[in-house]
Amino acid sequence: MEKNIVGLIGYPLSHTLSPIMHNSVFKKYGMNWEYKVFELKKEELKKFIKKMKQEKIKGVNVTVPYKQEIMKYLDSIDKAAKSVGAVNTIVNKKGKLIGYNTDYIGFEKTLKKYRIDIKGKNVVLFGAGGAAHAICFALKKQKPKIIDIVNIDIPMAENLVKEIKLENYRIWYLKKSEVIDALVKNADFIINATSVGLDKKSNPYKIDKLKKKGIPVYDLIYNPAVTPFLKQAKNKGARIINGIDMLIYQGMESFKLWTGRNSDYDTIVKALKEKGAI
Ligand code: NDP
Repeated sequence: MEKNIVGLIGYPLSHTLSPIMHNSVFKKYGMNWEYKVFELKKEELKKFIKKMKQEKIKGVNVTVPYKQEIMKYLDSIDKAAKSVGAVNTIVNKKGKLIGYNTDYIGFEKTLKKYRIDIKGKNVVLFGAGGAAHAICFALKKQKPKIIDIVNIDIPMAENLVKEIKLENYRIWYLKKSEVIDALVKNADFIINATSVGLDKKSNPYKIDKLKKKGIPVYDLIYNPAVTPFLKQAKNKGARIINGIDMLIYQGMESFKLWTGRNSDYDTIVKALKEKGAI
């Protein structure tokens, strides 16, 4: 019987963990499915979409830099993905391509897992890029008192606020350290959604003082497992959480959209550990 194909499109794709995650579950359940990597240059996107419909590829994940670009090629887009302004999952329903966003669900499930309740609370968010859109969409639903968005590029932060239609927010310039120190000192939840720390050396912001011990400090980055941002936060008494669960949960949601079945968290974690990925 012909294999059902799903996969990942993006560029470059050398470090992705998604094939390990999905293929481990297909194997565990004895499913005739395979998750492949499709590394595509921008000019190859349109052709791929055509191929996806013809070759009956059941669906794909979409990653950097195409989460927005891909939207114009799809037949329809789910309401939440429209609100986030990005698609990270495509489902091929009988030749019609439908776009979804599961990144924000990955973040919501992480909040739930770590029992982080931000209703009426102060949230400080570093970063205003693609991932920050999904984060803000999820945060908004939880009705925090305020989201303080800290970025270098202020128009980028203004654009984020406009797209997500945030109401209770403030925007701050990253280099204003006295102001940021005060925000951080008053925060109930602190998030790094910048790409700073991927190099294992850099830190977007040095935390001076926390409101109290055990304040959750979250970094979307999962490799390294403990970024310099998380390391210094831990030294100040924070409860630190990295981005691995967001990655796993977004993948599990995509799996469900493609196959109609639930994925398996423990199988994924085991496979990632065996490969030395986490
Ligand atoms: P983008 O490129 O869209 O955004 C990057 C953000 O980082 C911008 O806000 C940018 O701000 C900021 N930034 C970049 N360089 C610096 C710097 N030197 N100092 C301060 N800020 C900086 O990336 P994404 O939003 O797609 O991804 C962000 C991070 O989240 C990545 O590390 C990615 O791996 C991770 N991620 C994790 C996921 C998960 O499932 N765990 C899912 C998606 C992303 P400015 O423009 O002002 O420089």
